[in-house]
Amino acid sequence: MKVKEIKQKTILRKHKKIDSWFLSRYGMNLYRGCTHNCAYCDGRSEKYNVEGEFGSDVAVKINAIDVLRLELNLSRKRTHLKPGYFMVGGGVGDSYQPTEKKYELTRKALSLLAEKKLPVHILTKSTLIKRDVDIIEKINETNKAIVSFSFSSTDDKISKIFEPNVPLPNQRLETIQFFKERGISCGMFLLPVIPFISDTKEVINKTIQDARDADVDFIIFGGMTLKEGKQKEYFLKVLKQRYPKLITDYNMIYQWDRWGNTKHEYYDQLNKTFNVFIKYYKIPSRIPLRLFKNIISENDLVVVLLEHIDYLLKLEGKRSPYGYAAYSISKINKPLSSIKNDLRKIKGVGPATEKIILEILETKKSRYYEKMMDF
Ligand code: SF4
Repeated sequence: MKVKEIKQKTILRKHKKIDSWFLSRYGMNLYRGCTHNCAYCDGRSEKYNVEGEFGSDVAVKINAIDVLRLELNLSRKRTHLKPGYFMVGGGVGDSYQPTEKKYELTRKALSLLAEKKLPVHILTKSTLIKRDVDIIEKINETNKAIVSFSFSSTDDKISKIFEPNVPLPNQRLETIQFFKERGISCGMFLLPVIPFISDTKEVINKTIQDARDADVDFIIFGGMTLKEGKQKEYFLKVLKQRYPKLITDYNMIYQWDRWGNTKHEYYDQLNKTFNVFIKYYKIPSRIPLRLFKNIISENDLVVVLLEHIDYLLKLEGKRSPYGYAAYSISKINKPLSSIKNDLRKIKGVGPATEKIILEILETKKSRYYEKMMDF
């Protein structure tokens, strides 16, 4: 493992619109590169410009805490933070990869977020997060914390092949229980599901059952992209060693383009399978409203609920106008409650969407949405 210390000018990654998966407006990566070395990691893709050998080299943003302190300093001129969870992790490096034991950047960033009384959502694959339970509990008491773990399945044998340096799924599930026992909301990011390996009905059923038994608050699900270049080459090398017969199947479903998507038919089938089990085990497939309705702004609440409705309809194989309306609303700077009479002038907002928006503005909820989330 080669560790390089680097200095950065910025740490907070600002999203143009609220991220309705994580409920965040800002995210941060304190490391670039990840020695967890998952075979499918898209951080390996050229798109992210991660220097060095992905999987063995890692860059540590050594001045991250000083920079973050400045970025979070609300008394600085023109600084205005938009409300929402601060996302720690995801992207091109796990915040609790082994280097964190020495540098403790994640621990220090969480302490700073606790000091600033900001809500936090952490995504990791590592049980090292238990070390910081004291700070996470503190954040949860005052502002709210969500701890999420990513999985490609809960099968230890599959994980050993594709996630060689990560604590096994059963250890991650135990860690979820550890946080749940302390009153902290936890999610599973079942992402990516590996074609022909962790996408079978048996494996998905077992994974969602395990998540239910660990008492997760939600499961967010997604297929695997394989972008042309290093990501595809590395993954196919591992696949060839362990599952050589599957190469033909991968060539059938992947389009091998720069986005790395499979053909629609494959995703549609995968969504159907997921939808059956998520309903059977009665687990929300998006972060539930109770975890964010008092955390995000009025406009963002409308955007998120419309996007969630859009997702749920599409998961059922139905068409939806709500995603487009949400996108248009995300561009509006005025509070929606100040333009209540003009909602129909917004692109994509028809009578049904208007009705949902008015109800959200008045009650912070939507009966239509609740019905969809109520199994
Ligand atoms: S833990 Fe996440 S960031 Fe790290 S290698 Fe695995 S998928 Fe990539």
